[in-house]
Amino acid sequence: MKNQKTFLNLLFVAVLFLCGCKNTNERTVVQTEAYADIFAMDTYMYIRAYGENADTVLKIVEERILSLEKIFSVTELNSDVWTVNHADGETVEVSDETISVLRSALDIANKTGGALDITLYPVLTAWGFTTEKTHIPDEFELAEALALVDFGKVKIENNSVTIPEKMNIDLGAVAKGYTSDEVVNILHEYQIESALVNLGGNVHVLGTKPDGSLWKVGIRDPFDSSKTVCIVELSDAAVITSGNYERCFTAEDGKKYWHIIDPSDGFPANNGIVSVTVIGTDGLLCDALSTALFVLGTERAIEYWQNNGEFEMIIVTDDAKVYYTEGLEECINFEADTEREVLHRE
Ligand code: AMP
Ligand code: MG
Repeated sequence: MKNQKTFLNLLFVAVLFLCGCKNTNERTVVQTEAYADIFAMDTYMYIRAYGENADTVLKIVEERILSLEKIFSVTELNSDVWTVNHADGETVEVSDETISVLRSALDIANKTGGALDITLYPVLTAWGFTTEKTHIPDEFELAEALALVDFGKVKIENNSVTIPEKMNIDLGAVAKGYTSDEVVNILHEYQIESALVNLGGNVHVLGTKPDGSLWKVGIRDPFDSSKTVCIVELSDAAVITSGNYERCFTAEDGKKYWHIIDPSDGFPANNGIVSVTVIGTDGLLCDALSTALFVLGTERAIEYWQNNGEFEMIIVTDDAKVYYTEGLEECINFEADTEREVLHRE
């Protein structure tokens, strides 16, 4: 199935290339439009870029994504994360990238009272989210895993990281946001003026569309994957969503359980939110916040936005209501019958 999907994706890309992406002028032939389909970080990624030699630039981008995957992977032997997790309490040296992501994640962890916690890995394992063999953990197993969770015990000094024995870190909630920032930096560096970067639903747009109009990004309807709950029109922004529809399962008790965990009790966060989208210029921050705000729930997420600003947000609640921040008023479009409310600063 996965192979068939990959093949279809490749076919799609091939068709797009055959559709004529080349722009010929008298002296040189330059590629002005290119597409890349990449499977990395357990995610189907899709990038569309416009500018001179866009195809070559996308090859550089792909290499960068694969090298970041090697650093951040929790399972790949000798990745930075693997090395930290297998140090048995000893201090280890890691790359600048890992330090940067760790520092940002710990900062948001502090600011959100631990709603984001990069040491949750043992709890995710207890639920089977790390192996796809999902199940409700027994009470004892969950308590044992929760006892190992405490982002406050992650110590960083220059490029050195130390965590207690048996503790494990995992950057799954933030790595794709950092990666999209890196992709956009490379695209800028090579003078690409327009691009759409979609890392498995984490979208980052660069510039406007080549015709100068704004990019239209659909926010998935958490209750119906074939629909969008709204569409935002923007340029130069990351649009990052955390939803309860990804990596979820229905257990024997007939209830649905999902992959975003509340570190305070080790259970899937169930505070009224089914999806939260964070929009801003810093992909890593948006990614960290989308996960953290999901855990905080509607009321505390709104409070966080009112006190911290610098990002826009769209929350879909479990009763299908949509809350969105005032900065989006001019660029958000809904179906007429969507129940919604604009959030203002107090
Ligand atoms: P995202 O899709 O960005 O919200 O990230 C969710 C992923 O981060 C999950 O699949 C887990 O691997 C991990 N995760 C789940 N809950 C948390 C949490 N409260 N803090 C940090 N990471 C989490
Ligand atoms: Mg996230």
